Amino acid sequence: MPVPEKPRLLLHVCCAPCCTYPITALQDEFEVELFFYNPNIHPEEEYKARLDEAERYAAKIGLILYKSAYEADAWYRATSGLQDEPEGGDRCEICYRMRLGKTAKFAVANDFDYFATTLTISPHKDAKKINSLGAMIADMYMLKFHGADFKKKDGFKKSAQMSKEAGLYRQDYCGCQYSKKGKG
Ligand code: SF4
Repeated sequence: MPVPEKPRLLLHVCCAPCCTYPITALQDEFEVELFFYNPNIHPEEEYKARLDEAERYAAKIGLILYKSAYEADAWYRATSGLQDEPEGGDRCEICYRMRLGKTAKFAVANDFDYFATTLTISPHKDAKKINSLGAMIADMYMLKFHGADFKKKDGFKKSAQMSKEAGLYRQDYCGCQYSKKGKG
């Protein structure tokens, strides 16, 4: 009997180190392709550094990586007035929503069956919140969201190890200028 094709999944990648372990965790079940949309990253030189590293890693492991424009102005408009929020608060919720929304839109336009995100690999991120936003956005786009908590089962440790082995650049703050201040 022919082996059934795996469903196609578009994985939102926040940076190269964070996608290492999630990719391997997903590949048994899905045909994975990558999507880089992170208008939160500040400054632009850092955005370019993270994008370059994600492109380099995708090429190294032979996966397609799509990217969307750097829409920093739209991110600042969406999070205006929320600069004093702690990591995990209202500003982050808007930030997650923006990135997941764009990923879902791209996934629908390009016939993916599922979308997912690497964001839950971070010990600073609440997987429950991210997964419920993902499920809500999936409903809006008539798409499926693959919820996960990649930091579990030593996922974060594995991603750190894999990044080290691949010699990947790993930043020390989440992404926006406010997290840079507090190293969020
Ligand atoms: S701390 Fe991270 S998730 Fe929260 S708003 Fe800043 S970049 Fe986005």
